[in-house]
Amino acid sequence: MNSKVALRKCTDYDTDIVYHNISDIYRACSGPDLHNKKVLIKPNVLTDSAPEKCVTTHPVVIEALIRFLKEKGATVYAGDSPSIHLKGFRPDKSGISRVLEVSNVPWIDFNRKPGEIKLRNGKIRIASVINDVDLIFSVPKLKNHELVYFTGAIKNTLGLVPGFSKAKQHALHQDRESFSRFLVDLNESVTQHFYLMDGIIGMEGPGPGQGKPVKTGVLIGSSNPLALDVIASRIAGYNPRDIPTSRIALARGLWLHSFEEIEYDGPVIDTIVKTDFKRIPISQNGNISFKFIKNRLQFLRKLERRPVFNPLNCSGCRECIKICPQNAIVMDPHIKNHVVLTDRKCIRCFCCSEVCRYNAVTIKRKLIGV
Ligand code: SF4
Ligand code: SF4
Repeated sequence: MNSKVALRKCTDYDTDIVYHNISDIYRACSGPDLHNKKVLIKPNVLTDSAPEKCVTTHPVVIEALIRFLKEKGATVYAGDSPSIHLKGFRPDKSGISRVLEVSNVPWIDFNRKPGEIKLRNGKIRIASVINDVDLIFSVPKLKNHELVYFTGAIKNTLGLVPGFSKAKQHALHQDRESFSRFLVDLNESVTQHFYLMDGIIGMEGPGPGQGKPVKTGVLIGSSNPLALDVIASRIAGYNPRDIPTSRIALARGLWLHSFEEIEYDGPVIDTIVKTDFKRIPISQNGNISFKFIKNRLQFLRKLERRPVFNPLNCSGCRECIKICPQNAIVMDPHIKNHVVLTDRKCIRCFCCSEVCRYNAVTIKRKLIGV
């Protein structure tokens, strides 16, 4: 597989500048022929929030990409599916709906008659549009993820799984390694053709939904999801071998046999790494001796990062309750906007933090009490 990755410095959400960078990146990566092709753009919409929060792919990147694809002769569609996916959902708050309307690009509802694909182990529901288009362009946002540390090309594929089916996977894959293996399985089964990461302003801290915008100043493209994730996670200051999805894909020999195979086109990486990027602390839970102790001493569970609910910010919207795959959360019947967690049920999937739009869920270590 093509292992080219192109990175261009880009500091402004200016449609012309972004468009020229996309053209340059695509040429450098030898992206697939677009003439007369039907192309699905798959942004990261997550919970659909205002562009300045940097939770979602910025609408200017989508607008510039649409312009590029259409000029190359493609017919363009766009779609994504948030975890809480209501009928008729459109990404209005993120500004993506507006650019689709202006560009005359249809929004595809992934919840409408979804299909099914086989995975290494089992099968899963998937947006049926993947069978109707020639090419899929994934457009992730550069940001952290509490569960898999970093969300890039491999993680963005999860949005092709409609609505609540995503949360069910957390119940089936209850730890970081298992969930990461599932994500890699999914990417093995769904072929995507190009990845363009919006890293103009990324998100540091508790991603994917509760972090803070930070200027990262890059656009990155590749036809290779692993190669893109390796370069992007380096920009955020991670060791790519610490990112479980990258490590698992590499061990399987998917897309790359070694990180050294990446053909990189861009400024010297060490000169643009954001060393002060607030990363998710890398857990040592993979260590066998730690696992051994952990299985026997329940109090060590208190060392884990967990969701903590802030009643001052909580609106009582109940989105976290709907998404929780373990039914670990309820509203306190006596105190308004007070969410109660049954900690022993919680598998630390952090879906509650992902869907909360009110900054009412933080991920913390809580050493005292439960
Ligand atoms: S914690 Fe967040 S998602 Fe849950 S009810 Fe409160 S505001 Fe809604
Ligand atoms: S409480 Fe939050 S982190 Fe725990 S299982 Fe439910 S959604 Fe996942």
